[in-house]
Amino acid sequence: MPLLRAEEVSVSFGGRRALDTVSLAAEAGRVTGLIGPNGAGKSTLFDVVSGLRRPRTGRVLLDGHDVTREGPARRARRGLSRTFQHLELFGRLTVRDNLLVAAELGPGRRHSAATTDRTLARLDLTDLADAPADTLPTGAARLVEVARALVLEPRVLLLDEPAAGQDAEETARFAGLLRSLADEGTAVLLVEHDMSLVMTVCDQVHVLALGTVVASGPPELIRHDETVLAAYLGEE
Ligand code: ADP
Ligand code: MG
Repeated sequence: MPLLRAEEVSVSFGGRRALDTVSLAAEAGRVTGLIGPNGAGKSTLFDVVSGLRRPRTGRVLLDGHDVTREGPARRARRGLSRTFQHLELFGRLTVRDNLLVAAELGPGRRHSAATTDRTLARLDLTDLADAPADTLPTGAARLVEVARALVLEPRVLLLDEPAAGQDAEETARFAGLLRSLADEGTAVLLVEHDMSLVMTVCDQVHVLALGTVVASGPPELIRHDETVLAAYLGEE
């Protein structure tokens, strides 16, 4: 059974369908990609899954539990953690304090300082620990956002364009991090525009276009799928 399932989720904004009966799953130990052109509904799906937006229809299952009516804090306690496409760091706080604030909310709050230091080290952020978050270049700020999601030691991790603003070297290192998280059993759901990252790191890819899943499969099939190419036409 997949750790995370969205079943026939629909969302409308003022009569306009942003998601139309979208179903997809993310499994433990796998990196699942969610790609699609701008406006496809990827971030809206993350909002539904993380509890920030109630779907009009459909449900969200975490580890077999229907969590559709639970708020974000409750879902976080069940092991779901996310990042945001638009960085949501506390700009005046240091990198370490951004993580500590998050760790204090998590299940391991009695060890939050240790978890914070371990996470900083894992993401090569120790040297930046005392820097205020708003002084960081985008690539590093993205990593801090990921680190802040990781201090909760999630079982399901949703990443919304985490590599945007990272350079090639940062992205390569990031790919290694995603693989190691999956190897530890985390279910990673990755929204990303960097196709080479998606194609190298994902086990399974779902393609969203205009609020509908138009293709799902392993990356080598998705890469050559005509429906997928059509969905991107006029984008890039
Ligand atoms: P993606 O993340 O794939 O780029 P989004 O989920 O951000 O797509 O947006 C999907 C669609 O829903 C877009 O047409 C967007 O304009 C619309 N949308 C997203 N959030 C809102 C909102 N809060 N109010 C109205 N429309 C929204
Ligand atoms: Mg988005």
